[in-house]
Amino acid sequence: MSERRKLAAGNWKMNGTGADLSEIDALVSGHGDAGCEVLICPPATLITRMVARADGKIAVGGQDCHPAASGAHTGDISAAMLKDAGASFVITGHSERRADHGETDEIVRAKTEAGWAAGLTVIVCIGETLDEREASNTLGIIDGQLAGSVPDAATGHNLVIAYEPVWAIGTGKVPSTDQIGEVHDHIRTRLEQRFGAGVGRTVRLLYGGSVKPGNAADIFAVPNVDGALVGGASLKADDFGGIISALD
Ligand code: PGA
Repeated sequence: MSERRKLAAGNWKMNGTGADLSEIDALVSGHGDAGCEVLICPPATLITRMVARADGKIAVGGQDCHPAASGAHTGDISAAMLKDAGASFVITGHSERRADHGETDEIVRAKTEAGWAAGLTVIVCIGETLDEREASNTLGIIDGQLAGSVPDAATGHNLVIAYEPVWAIGTGKVPSTDQIGEVHDHIRTRLEQRFGAGVGRTVRLLYGGSVKPGNAADIFAVPNVDGALVGGASLKADDFGGIISALD
């Protein structure tokens, strides 16, 4: 475990305006010296302002990027633009992007490569739907998404995987620690098989889906869980601070 620095990552999704940057001030003063890495991925409109307020204590990331470096793509943002705004991470393949914008594994892979080309660490999200879990197909879905969404040039520095069961996101439902452990062990094995033990052992694996201060410690005690990707409970410094404390 010690070869992987723990990561508490918050995804604000389509929430937050300038008034909410006070939450960053509270996180910096309360958890700026945390031993784990702390990341917030705000809406793109807040990245520059958040970087200024984060005082180098909290990393800032984007929630998505376009696969192309630049061009005629109205409304889209390139990975280089995120980097220029001060981001050091980007999320790709979140299930809301896959569902709302029809993002396939192939698109997620291209976006991940674009993030790497810009020098960003990419958090690639994977996870099964409830139907897929109930059909006992979870590990098959994970295998397909890992193979399809993760490019070949992965390293322990440029790649983070977030396992987010779609049915646990924003629902208050959380898999058992055994279920989380089974999937995380499986992902670790697959990464080691594909990239070799050196890389496979150093890629951080986050769990995401209804992580709260009250359940975080149990989730973080599961082997191969190196942190969390947190939606709703990342919006308020009190909640996210509780999760950081459980990880630290
Ligand atoms: P949630 O979202 O914590 O609100 O369930 C998690 C996510 O979508 O990353």
